[in-house]
Amino acid sequence: MTPQPTQIKRLPDAIHVRWNDGHQSEYSYQLLRQKCPCARCQSEEPDQNPLRVLPADPLSNLTLVDIQLVGRYAIRLIWADGHKTGIYTFDFLRSLQPDSTEIAPD
Ligand SMILES: [Zn+2]
Repeated sequence: MTPQPTQIKRLPDAIHVRWNDGHQSEYSYQLLRQKCPCARCQSEEPDQNPLRVLPADPLSNLTLVDIQLVGRYAIRLIWADGHKTGIYTFDFLRSLQPDSTEIAPD
């Protein structure tokens, strides 16, 4: 069964998720935007997609406005630049393996 978030907290440059299996994950906005699963981001070559090329000032457009729960399986992220088609399933979030209390970074 897919773990469910019990708490999703918005930080200045990341979201912090506490899962119902005890796992805790932190996803930077940069990572989330790079991994945006929406058709628009996924259908283009990364090198040719301006949305996925991070500017020198990476946080200028990379602010999260809102997090919406989608059913019981995903969240939708609303970005300050108007991008809001990315639906991040809980499975997908767990597969991103960001810094967490259980997975040691390199
Ligand atoms: Zn997208």
